[in-house]
Amino acid sequence: MKQFRNNVIRAGLGALYFSGAHYLLRPIFSGVGAIFMLHQVRPARDAEFAPNRHLEVTPDFLRAMLAHLHSRDIDIVTIDELHQRLTTRDFSRRVACFTFDDGYRDNRDYALPVMREFNAPFTVFVASDFAEGSGRLWWIALEMAIAKASSVEASIGGTVIQFDTSTTAGKQAAFDRLHDWLRGLPEFELKREIDALCTRHGVDIAAICADLCMSWRELKAFAADPLVTVGAHSITHCNLAKQSEDVAVHEMRESRARIAKALQRDVVHLAYPYGDRIAAGPREFALARTAGYKTAVTTRPGMIFAESSRHLTALPRVSLNGNYQNERILPVLTSGAATAMWNGFRRIDAA
Ligand SMILES: [Zn+2]
Repeated sequence: MKQFRNNVIRAGLGALYFSGAHYLLRPIFSGVGAIFMLHQVRPARDAEFAPNRHLEVTPDFLRAMLAHLHSRDIDIVTIDELHQRLTTRDFSRRVACFTFDDGYRDNRDYALPVMREFNAPFTVFVASDFAEGSGRLWWIALEMAIAKASSVEASIGGTVIQFDTSTTAGKQAAFDRLHDWLRGLPEFELKREIDALCTRHGVDIAAICADLCMSWRELKAFAADPLVTVGAHSITHCNLAKQSEDVAVHEMRESRARIAKALQRDVVHLAYPYGDRIAAGPREFALARTAGYKTAVTTRPGMIFAESSRHLTALPRVSLNGNYQNERILPVLTSGAATAMWNGFRRIDAA
């Protein structure tokens, strides 16, 4: 199903490009700018089974995006500068902001050198447990378990289901089903189920975190780069909307305090983990405001409009999605047509 949806979207983006429709949509949908969302940046891998591929782009694709923005005379600004322009209603120039979620080491090794070529600032949102080395990147653990197994078993809603994961198609189908199931579980059950799965299939979930994410020591050096802003992404990377208010507040405030303490700098920007409609809603937008964040970004797709200044803790983003790393897509992304398509051509209000 996910694959089907991806194909439809890919065809849709292609159709928008070939019809030139994005140029017609530009005045309506382009807004004053965009916040781009990325996760990992690293050279392409040719694994057939790569269900998390949408979360990684190559350094070349990132470079092409920056060159495209440069050619359109769009300002690439820090998130502080975006906040400043929104609050002072300075919309004289179009802006782009680059944000990277989770705190992957490849942001330093592959993204930073490319960002430097364009003197382009960016923000990395750190989940403090990931920097601590104790975080659970369960979606990657799930991929690793399925990649090495020819069969995977799970008890979903009281029924034991056996997935045949001997083929790429079987692996993909199992991943989609198990991913959706795990995401729907309360945090403690998700932890229990993914740990059990990892134990059965010999995946060291703790090692994934240390392997992929920057430690506090690495982050301190990284954050000293003048192009880098570090924001918060909760402590445990939990679905905040599913937590009690006390826990959600603690996740927002304490992650901010831990990052500030470790890096000796103020943390005033937040990215909600998962960040979609079921992970961040009006309650979280208000809590982020009272926790003292100047801005908070979601994963809801959309461009930044003048009205966004009234919703600074509910900002939408445009995903640079690893499944669509085709340079022809770049003008479509910056026109806002892609996110408009995602939203059924409705302009959405983030509240
Ligand atoms: Zn994240």
